[in-house]
Amino acid sequence: MAQELTARVKEVIQRTYNVKSIRLDIGGKADFKAGQFLAVTLQNNPELKKYLSISSSPTEECYLEFTKKLTESDFSQVLNQLKPGDTVNIQYPFGKFILGEPAADLAFLSGGIGITPIRSIAKYVVDKNLGTDMVLVYANRSLKDIVFKDDFDAMQKIYPKIKVAHVLCEASPGFKCTPGLINAQVIKNEVSDYLKRKFYLCGPPQMVEAMEKLLVQELSVGKTSIVTENFQGY
Ligand SMILES: Cc1cc2nc3c(=O)[nH]c(=O)nc-3n(C[C@H](O)[C@H](O)[C@H](O)COP(=O)(O)OP(=O)(O)OC[C@H]3O[C@@H](n4cnc5c(N)ncnc54)[C@H](O)[C@@H]3O)c2cc1C
Repeated sequence: MAQELTARVKEVIQRTYNVKSIRLDIGGKADFKAGQFLAVTLQNNPELKKYLSISSSPTEECYLEFTKKLTESDFSQVLNQLKPGDTVNIQYPFGKFILGEPAADLAFLSGGIGITPIRSIAKYVVDKNLGTDMVLVYANRSLKDIVFKDDFDAMQKIYPKIKVAHVLCEASPGFKCTPGLINAQVIKNEVSDYLKRKFYLCGPPQMVEAMEKLLVQELSVGKTSIVTENFQGY
């Protein structure tokens, strides 16, 4: 059941040049499943309301975090000014982009800011040491656009069953990645046992649609093995 509350900003974290995380103090432990989303309203103004995935994991009990790509929109401009002590209104939790029971081995396909619910799920699996095998294929324009790079680097150091494969339009010298976009060959290379995994796709609707088509039509992945989250609005 969704709840509505006013939350205090605890911390603001600049993730990349155009992405910020806001950590909220909600006065107790947040009740949600990794991968779900919330609705955020700024300045009590219904025109400043957006749906945003929760980027923290339920295991990170001291705050509830969301992470927004900043644009020229009014919402983004107001969000960009938030500082510790400010308040925002939230409704949560919503959504079915969550782990099944028991957790199957996973493959995440993500682009840009579509990483937010995946970061939540991966962090949950690592913190709970669930033993679930995870492969993330993460597409971005360039190295400077990769969100949560440090987090995923840290997870790979402590949890042997997570692999991160970066795909960049503009490859950077010395940085291990596949140049270009995610296609069937990239999935075959990075997720060789792809028919045994549950796929989680998240990003702008066109990307999610293209990835789903690719999995089903080119790689014969069953539709029941695919879970999607569309970031409507991009
Ligand atoms: C389930 C779900 C989860 C989501 N999770 C996330 C998430 O974790 N992180 C995230 O970032 N997004 C997420 N989204 C998308 C989010 O809800 C927004 O739609 C998206 O972030 C676009 O917001 P915006 O601030 O660019 O505003 P919009 O108003 O949608 O702006 C769209 C475009 O128009 C331009 N624009 C708007 N107003 C102006 C203006 N006044 N002047 C000039 N240009 C303007 C903006 O620059 C932008 O490029 C999610 C969506 C859904 C449905």
